[in-house]
Amino acid sequence: MRCDVLVIGGGPTGCMAASVLSPALSTVVLEEHPCIGEPVQCAGLVTPRVVEMVSAQGTVLNRIEGACVHFPGGRTLVLDGEGTKAVVVDRGEFDRHCAVLAKKAGAELWTGCRGLSVGRRDGEFQTRLSEGSVGSRAILVADGHRSRMAKAMGMGMPSEMVRGIEVDLRLRAEDQRRVRVFLGRNVAPGFFAWAIPCGDLTRVGLCVSPGHGTPYRFLEALLEREGWQEAERARVYSGAIPIGHLPRTYADGLLLAGDAAGMAKPLSGGGLFTGMTAGRLAGEVLGKAFQRNDLSARSLSAYQERWEGVFGRELRDSLRVRQAFVRMEDKDLDRMGGRLDRESVRKVLSTGDIDFPTTLAPALLKAAPALLAVSPALLLRLMRG
Ligand SMILES: Cc1cc2nc3c(=O)[nH]c(=O)nc-3n(C[C@H](O)[C@H](O)[C@H](O)COP(=O)(O)OP(=O)(O)OC[C@H]3O[C@@H](n4cnc5c(N)ncnc54)[C@H](O)[C@@H]3O)c2cc1C
Repeated sequence: MRCDVLVIGGGPTGCMAASVLSPALSTVVLEEHPCIGEPVQCAGLVTPRVVEMVSAQGTVLNRIEGACVHFPGGRTLVLDGEGTKAVVVDRGEFDRHCAVLAKKAGAELWTGCRGLSVGRRDGEFQTRLSEGSVGSRAILVADGHRSRMAKAMGMGMPSEMVRGIEVDLRLRAEDQRRVRVFLGRNVAPGFFAWAIPCGDLTRVGLCVSPGHGTPYRFLEALLEREGWQEAERARVYSGAIPIGHLPRTYADGLLLAGDAAGMAKPLSGGGLFTGMTAGRLAGEVLGKAFQRNDLSARSLSAYQERWEGVFGRELRDSLRVRQAFVRMEDKDLDRMGGRLDRESVRKVLSTGDIDFPTTLAPALLKAAPALLAVSPALLLRLMRG
């Protein structure tokens, strides 16, 4: 068997790339699981622009307009956006929708088929599969956070992996328009916990950074504290989020995108916007490279330039903010909560875009100059860009 482009990983990143590749190219998407979209490892909270990218309005479960942020000392910061700031999607359905788009564009989906190792012969890749092998002129590695392929091909690994757990409770949240965010070392060390209203279900989850053991005990503690322990658990799922993108995401005939390249947003852990944007750009750059018949690293470097142009700075800035965040003790978080809990600051925060959170820095600092005390060097750096 041989094809022009082999996409390893049938998640949203891989399927997005396959959906923009020309039908004139033969494209195969490998997915190790028998069904696309299973198992789910995601809260499904994205900006409306992610849904628009693939016209997946049919997968939306709820619309979110604001947030309640609970600080460790007891303060709650209530933020109200104007209109829809985020939507909750049914992630399984969303993935299947993306796979249908890839198929419509002419890609073949090989489900239940795992890529095991990749070699190179006479300028072509030979990928060993769980059954047989496949040759290809190019490969897009989009095999998620573990990315055995990126590691095996010597492209490196993201610098940090946070572990997450989530449960869908059969519980209707009173407030269907705001997500709840919980901060604190005893709640979710190195990250945060969330409760997302989805109609008759409430999706409660959290992540913890490495060195804090399993996230499970933190979830149980949160459920108990919030009085949710007895609620029926419709589904429990766990996973990991790679933080810190790979410095180089291209090589001869090869591109990496999405979680495989550590593209999740360092502050929220969301990876659908960045992964799918990168997937689209990877597809476009590969398409042009085939037209020129030039799949060299130099030709494919346009991919890195293009995704960096969209969200490279945001990833870098968010990573710096995250580094400051993980060093904060509960008392620092409470102090920051106090500085943010003013009408003028809440107004600024309510205009935020969860795909580009650090772009708020200049307006925030103007509304609350006292924030400079939290981390002067960091804030000045964000202002300078
Ligand atoms: C608890 C949790 C909550 C999250 N919540 C959100 C959220 O609310 N919003 C958001 O935007 N993001 C969220 N994320 C992150 C989001 O799930 C990922 O960023 C996103 O799935 C990345 O998409 P991807 O296509 O790059 O990788 P994946 O979705 O992981 O897809 C990769 C696919 O490749 C397959 N695969 C792996 N290895 C091989 C192989 N060797 N051969 C064949 N197939 C292979 C896998 O089975 C998988 O289907 C969350 C993550 C976690 C863990």
